[in-house]
This record gives sequence, C-alpha cells and structure tokens, in this order.
Amino acid sequence: MRSPLSLLLLATLVQAQDTKPPLPCQPCTSHGELPCKAHGKGVLELEKVVRFCSVAADCKTCQGALATDCKSCRNQPAETALAERVKLAQQLLTQRRKDIDAVIDNKPLLHLTTEHLDLVFSIRPLTIGRDKIETHPLMHLYGQRIEALRTLFLQTFDVPDGDLPGRLRIHMFRDEQDHAFFGPRVTGMGGGSSTGTKLMGAECVYSMWHDPRGMPDDEALHRTIIHNTSHLLLSNMTPAVWLGNRKHGWIDEGLAHWFEDKLTGKCTNFCYEEIALTPGAGFKGGRWRVPVRKLVDDGKARSFAELSALNTDQLDFQDHAMVFACVDFLITAHGGPKFRDLVRLIKRDKPTRDALQEVYGLNPLTFDTRLHEWVKATYPLQER
Ligand SMILES: [Zn+2]
Ligand SMILES: [Zn+2]
Ligand SMILES: [Zn+2]
Ligand SMILES: [Zn+2]
Repeated sequence: MRSPLSLLLLATLVQAQDTKPPLPCQPCTSHGELPCKAHGKGVLELEKVVRFCSVAADCKTCQGALATDCKSCRNQPAETALAERVKLAQQLLTQRRKDIDAVIDNKPLLHLTTEHLDLVFSIRPLTIGRDKIETHPLMHLYGQRIEALRTLFLQTFDVPDGDLPGRLRIHMFRDEQDHAFFGPRVTGMGGGSSTGTKLMGAECVYSMWHDPRGMPDDEALHRTIIHNTSHLLLSNMTPAVWLGNRKHGWIDEGLAHWFEDKLTGKCTNFCYEEIALTPGAGFKGGRWRVPVRKLVDDGKARSFAELSALNTDQLDFQDHAMVFACVDFLITAHGGPKFRDLVRLIKRDKPTRDALQEVYGLNPLTFDTRLHEWVKATYPLQER
C-alpha cells in the first residue's frame, strides 16, 4: 500500500503534467525587464559596474534601475526587484543632493559610488588621446582609476582588503570657489588658497579643484589624484595614522611620489599645509632619478638622519626628490611587504632607527651607504 506522502507526490506530478509550461516571452526572453535605452552607446555598461551614479538615477525612463518593466509579460519577482532598484537609487540621489548639492550653489554636481569610493565630480570635459571625454564618462573613468590605485596599493604591500577599512571620499571640483567653500567643511582644514585639502587617518577625505595652471591636462589631473589618494590609503592602512606631521614626511610624501612615478613616470605634486605653492611650480620636470643621481655623485644628497626627522610640509623640492628615492630604494630593492612592516612599526610609535634595524638590519648611516650604492647602480646619469 502506498504511503500518504507518495500519494501526495503522485498527485503533484499529475497536476504538473496537466499544466502547460508558459510560453517564453520573446521581447525580454522571460527576464521580465528590458535594458533601458536612454543611456547612450556604451554608457549602460559603465553604469552596471558601479553601485550608484547620479546621472543614471536622473534617467527619466528608468530612474536608475537601468532597466524597464517588460509590458509583454507579467513577472512579479522582476517587477519587485526593479522597484527596489529605483527606490535605492532615488534614496541615494536624495541623500547626495541634500548633503552636498544643497550647500554648493555651482551646479551641476555629479556623484558616483563604487565599491570603496564616494566621488563628487564636476570636472570640465578633457581630451584623452584624440577623444574629448565629457564630464559624466570622465567621472566613471576617475572612479575606475581610483579603485585601480587602491587595488595596486593592496597588491604592492600584500595587505588584505580589510586593512583599508575607510571609504574613500573624494571631491573633484571644476571651480575654485566650490573647493574653497566645501573643502574645509569636509576636511576640517583650511582650504581658502589651496588646490586641495585632505583629512587622513581613519577618515579618507580629499577635496580639490582642477587648477589648469598646475594641471594642464588629464594626465596631470590623474597624477594629482594618484598622489593624494596614496596619502589617504597609506594613512588609512591599519593602524590608521597620518604620519606626515609626526616627523615621518619622508614616508608620507615619498610613497605618494612613488605611486605618481610608477603610474605616470613623473612626480609633480607637493603637499604643503600652509605655504601656497605657485601653481605649476615643480622640480626638474618631475623626472627625478637623474637629479638624485647627480646629488649622490656630487656628495650633496641630504642624509637619511636629517630627512627622516622632517614633517611633510618641511621638505623642500630637493628633499622631495630624495624621499622619493628613499622609498623607491626600499620598495624596489627590498619589496613592498617589508616597507609595509616598517610603516606599521613606525605607526605604532617605534623610533625610525629601531624600526629600520628590525625590518632591514640597517641604521641611518648604513641606510645612506646602501641607498647611494643602489642609486649609482640603477639611476641613469642622464634622461634616456
Ligand atoms: Zn553614470
Ligand atoms: Zn535609464
Ligand atoms: Zn517579457
Ligand atoms: Zn603629498
């Protein structure tokens, strides 16, 4: 005799065979939604890989869902999911408009949220290669570049994602007045006459405006973002501390230069908290290996003992080139993980001399000797 359970199963089977399967919906291939057509060629792909974009959320057709309901079929789960996406996008848009747009007169401001970044953006269109890139796709490009730098930082120092716990909050304004007004509000620093201000440590906030005198093109703007985002990442890496005002300017500024050089082949950004730098002022065209080699060959290189006792804003142009070389030597010759260990010991207030000894077996004197040997062996005598 059959058990009641198997009878029930049989009944279900019979019922299932009696019902005809629904025909697939042609227009949406039974997904219940269609890609929104209002975003232009290639743009929908940019939107799909970010969490939020204010331009997408502003779309009259989909309100940020990036898709529209298929009118040829009923698909309740798909309709619910669409409505959820609209709701989320509109919530984020309202929040951003309230927190940021409402306090800045100069519109429009665009907003992007990616996995680790909240970006406010109003940079004017820029030419990259032969193409003029409008503000909206340019914002997506900068979002990708900042995420890529974060990934490179993690790889270089072999640290897990969780060791950069802070969300990056970056504000790139087209006009000076916006940064001058908004920068101090988000960073707590004076921003009146500066091109950029930062809040570093547990918080990772950077506000800047695109001064064309110092950043004539996309490459220069990108380099500025690399330099300053590197500061945010270094400071945020656990334990979160900004080293630049604790006599460790050589690490703070040296590493920011190292990433500028690694990704663009030049160093053109200098951090000063108080002294306003003449826009566009720089050192040796941003190509520093040849001048460092010359300083070392001429016996004029400032000693590590001196360099490693200065804050970031106490470094002069020549010092900037030397601290770049110090960091370049440690990372290139000894690897990123050792540099990470050094940074962590110093962040935990171990004296530089002791940290250097523990990680590299060097003291400030032998550091100079090894650095100079390495510079003579690897830095060119002239630009190639
Ligand atoms: Zn977008
Ligand atoms: Zn749309
Ligand atoms: Zn359909
Ligand atoms: Zn800097």
